[in-house]
Amino acid sequence: MNLSIVIPLLDEEESIPELHHWIAGVMRSNGYLYEIIFIDDGSEDNSWTLIEELAKENHEVKGIRFLENFGKSQALHAGFAIAEGDVIITMDADLQDNPEEIPELYQMIVNDGYDLVSGWKRKRYDSKIVKNLPSKLFNLAARKTSGLKLHDFNCGLKAYKNVVVKNIEVTGEMHRYIPVLVKNAGFSKIGEKVVLHQARKYGVTKFGMERFTRGFLDLITISFLSRFGKRPMHFFGTWGAIILFVGIGFALYLGIDKLFINPTGRLITERPQFYISLTAMILGTQFFVAGFLGELILRNKKETKNYIIKEQTNI
Ligand code: UDP
Ligand code: MG
Repeated sequence: MNLSIVIPLLDEEESIPELHHWIAGVMRSNGYLYEIIFIDDGSEDNSWTLIEELAKENHEVKGIRFLENFGKSQALHAGFAIAEGDVIITMDADLQDNPEEIPELYQMIVNDGYDLVSGWKRKRYDSKIVKNLPSKLFNLAARKTSGLKLHDFNCGLKAYKNVVVKNIEVTGEMHRYIPVLVKNAGFSKIGEKVVLHQARKYGVTKFGMERFTRGFLDLITISFLSRFGKRPMHFFGTWGAIILFVGIGFALYLGIDKLFINPTGRLITERPQFYISLTAMILGTQFFVAGFLGELILRNKKETKNYIIKEQTNI
């Protein structure tokens, strides 16, 4: 199979038939062998019925229905788990991403040897204040922390080599930083392609203002994880040692001063150094313990799945 097209969706009933028609047209004119995997992330409208109908008439259409809304990252994860194509394409269901881009993305993976090609909506058709400016800031921060030279980390339209999607774990809301996950998993040929973008035709955006706060917190997590995720003791141990060293230093100073230099001076507990020493020693020890716990958790980690599938069709 050439292509797996993975489409996460939440309440997109108006767009689904049109999107399917459009993709099928592009696939037919290029003669691809393909599958379309719709992941219904807990829709409350008619989306799942439409997917079932499409699946009945077209054997290339597959559907996964989540028990409830687990989030776009989980939906992508579930799609990646069953995708069989040599190249995986992800796209949004809201007709904002253009299926006509697929052949060129496919070529970049197959002929140019890219592991991941991320779309770049150079001209965006979203609200300027709510999306365009904050998204510029995000991308700047993501570029600086990851070292990847991409303009649009969060673009829904992306193409992957099959082996790439089988080796990344998109959890939480990490779909915004998939290129970073891919890089951290050890794949280095990551490129981008300018893609056409359109205004949302039906329905409304599913991400509100919380995208900014969560996005920034996730960015901190991911830049920390990419450096110390596999070796927490190196971070916590270093800082623990430095802080503990400061604490012991002050304690030694107080002890020597009291015993040999100035025995008749103030009580140790009346001196500020005592409290600095106490705090530093406790903090330093806590850092060490946190490092040990991190290492323990890492060594006992099992594969976790953060979603529950309610039903499936054509799989
Ligand atoms: N989506 C999803 N689960 C969610 C939120 C969104 O599967 O919890 C889907 C949504 O249906 C769409 C894609 O993710 O296909 C992108 O969402 P949206 O268009 O609302 O985001 P925006 O384009 O405004 O960034
Ligand atoms: Mg959209």
